[in-house]
Amino acid sequence: MKSREVQLVSRPPGMPTRENFRVVEKDLGYPGPGEVLVRNLFLSVDPYMRGRMRDRKSYVAPFGLERTMTGGAVGQIVESQVPGLFPGEHVLSDFGWREGFCCAGDEVTPLGELQASPSAYLGVMGMPGMTAYTGLFGAASLKDGETVFVSGAAGAVGSIAGQIAKIKGCRVVGTAGSAEKVRYLVDDLGFDHAFDYHDGDLRRQIRDGAPEGVDVFFDNVGGELLQAGIGAMRESGRIALCGAISMYNDTEPAPGPTNLPRTIGLGINIRGFLVRHYRHMRDDFLRDVGGWLIDGQLTYRETVFEGIESTPDAFIGLFTGANIGKMVVRLDEGD
Ligand code: NAP
Repeated sequence: MKSREVQLVSRPPGMPTRENFRVVEKDLGYPGPGEVLVRNLFLSVDPYMRGRMRDRKSYVAPFGLERTMTGGAVGQIVESQVPGLFPGEHVLSDFGWREGFCCAGDEVTPLGELQASPSAYLGVMGMPGMTAYTGLFGAASLKDGETVFVSGAAGAVGSIAGQIAKIKGCRVVGTAGSAEKVRYLVDDLGFDHAFDYHDGDLRRQIRDGAPEGVDVFFDNVGGELLQAGIGAMRESGRIALCGAISMYNDTEPAPGPTNLPRTIGLGINIRGFLVRHYRHMRDDFLRDVGGWLIDGQLTYRETVFEGIESTPDAFIGLFTGANIGKMVVRLDEGD
């Protein structure tokens, strides 16, 4: 089997462009003893990948140049030389932006009987869904009935975080980058209030939705929204710093929030977190989110780009707001 793959060929100084990537073709050969051959169905593009494109020490190593981009993917086993792994089985892997691969059997995670579409394991049932769950219950210690503000609310993580907070009886306010997304939050996901952050006076708009103040701020965006969110917090509130996507393409460090002293008197807890800090919550996440999906309390959307060549565009689209819900790439053999 042949596999086309997307490699990073140069490091974007600011906003990534197609020229930072190239597509190459490789021959995968046949799986040896202890190996499986997998054909990917869906690839994930994620904001954290932008950080790995910098040649800078971080919590994960930078991507290598002229190397295939790694990251989440769901595929199906085509051939197996591993006892217990069978052709047709769906598997999750981290080999990234490629149509297929050969690897050792323990380098893929079998998904068993699917509880949702294969692509959902890159979104609501996967890393972004678990980020939403652990950010709320782990980092922010969410309690039933609180007031929650979510930035980046129409994306993969934010749309799940807001819905989980609604399930827990919370008042939920969200912000996103277009009128269509704002309608999605209120009409489809049941947010109590939502606004487009391009419409100015962020503090006032949060206050319109949360006149008594915010108990939990789930921040995916950073920058001006972080500043406005700090300004809307009430006593003993918690801020879960999940991401800062507004800053990922900055070429100069952005100024920090000027209103941090406000958090002192109010006893606000600000906690940055990575989903992997809460691995111990995985079973709870799968049980709760899987259950809410099955009983219809939780829904999800995806924005789907088609074919391996579209992967850089899908990735760049994360920074232009091209997605509602999880951004994924469906490969030609995908269903
Ligand atoms: P996503 O929200 O599905 O996609 C990115 C969205 O960010 C875009 O659709 C866009 O929506 C918004 N955005 C882009 N540039 C922006 C800007 N300058 N200002 C405001 N909004 C902007 O992505 P995701 O996978 O769910 O990730 C959301 C955040 O969570 C990211 O910051 C990511 O790094 C973080 N994250 C953290 C963890 C963790 O373990 N801590 C794990 C996963 C993700 P609009 O149209 O609304 O602008």
